[in-house]
Amino acid sequence: MRSTLVTIAFAFISTFGLAQQEYFITADRLFDGETMHENWALVVRGKDIVAVGPKGSLKPSPTATVINKPGGTIVPGLIEGHSHLLLYPYNITDWDTQVLKETDNYRTVRATVHAKNTLMAGFTTVRDLGTEGAGYADVALKKAIQEGIIPGPRMMVAGRAIVSTGSYGPKGYDHDMDIMLGAEPADGNDLIRVVRDQIWKGADFIKVYADYRWGTEGEDQPSFTLEELKLVNEVTRSSGRVLVCHAKTREAMRRAVLAGAETIEHGDFIDVETGKLMKEHGVTYFPTIAAVDMISQYRGWVKGKGPDPERVAIKKKSFKDAIASGVAIGMGGDVGVFPHGENVLEMELMVEYGMEPAQVLRAATSVNARAFHLENRLGNLKPGTLADIVVVEGDPTKNISQLRKVRFVMKDGVVYRNEQ
Ligand SMILES: [Zn+2]
Repeated sequence: MRSTLVTIAFAFISTFGLAQQEYFITADRLFDGETMHENWALVVRGKDIVAVGPKGSLKPSPTATVINKPGGTIVPGLIEGHSHLLLYPYNITDWDTQVLKETDNYRTVRATVHAKNTLMAGFTTVRDLGTEGAGYADVALKKAIQEGIIPGPRMMVAGRAIVSTGSYGPKGYDHDMDIMLGAEPADGNDLIRVVRDQIWKGADFIKVYADYRWGTEGEDQPSFTLEELKLVNEVTRSSGRVLVCHAKTREAMRRAVLAGAETIEHGDFIDVETGKLMKEHGVTYFPTIAAVDMISQYRGWVKGKGPDPERVAIKKKSFKDAIASGVAIGMGGDVGVFPHGENVLEMELMVEYGMEPAQVLRAATSVNARAFHLENRLGNLKPGTLADIVVVEGDPTKNISQLRKVRFVMKDGVVYRNEQ
């Protein structure tokens, strides 16, 4: 008799699997990455979403754990498109000091907390755009999160990133001193070796600074030639990875696009023509409005009082031009310049600068997922995608700041936050 029971139990476990916990999650609304639906719900089994639809049409198993959040909206786990988990706000410690004086060990310990704050804020995935002098600490952080050692978002990492000789900081030291930089310098054919070295050490994609503040007046000027960027792209692509470019000037953006970059970061001086060129080449634009806004405030601007500083005014105009051009606009705030966990700030500024809240929510979900080739796994709530699910209070397509009121966070089918 006992052996029969054991056999039945074994058959049950092997058929349905031990870890296949089921959840039935419901709220007033569900935003699937594209569209809002009233009174929808979804079913999670193990790591995956297995059903999404009107509440009455879904049939969870009797053993499913029910998560019900009246008044709330279910959204896909949010995707931060431009983070620096190894940095923290410059009004606490300026960038030069973080890069030059803080050990990688100290910075990594801090980053574990940044990672946790990011996840708890509903951002279940981040694309991290460089450690800024902390070597490959991002690769280690990603591994520790993947292994479940520490809580944090799923990460795609750049590692050290690449700059041209003479362009990047920290600057202003005696040239006799060997000052470590915030990224790895390389030029000409040496770019081949450096790209391969970064890939070897764990870079998921290659980030290049296509321009930087090294003009005669300290203004942004292109740093790499078109040929150099093409070389980087060719070496990167042959490994199955992609090139992404920091570029603020129109000329650097143009070179980056023609070289084959997939995303453009910052683009402060983007105009309609450049946006159209990006659109033609399928490039996604990451405006990082929050970085400009917060750095201006750190330099003394009291927001709402007096006229906008010049760079804020330029940013507002260029963001409108980008929208008018039809280029795909992703969500990435350059978080690290401002506190990790405050990622929604970028989304609030996108609305303030003229984008519809629903489109901003798409930017942080389906648009970012598409930009990173993850649309079949993330950024959309549909059967077969990973169970990265967030519930917030109210309706974020009416007021984007509702995304700050997080009541539930699930990543890979694991619950990290669950509040009434
Ligand atoms: Zn950045």
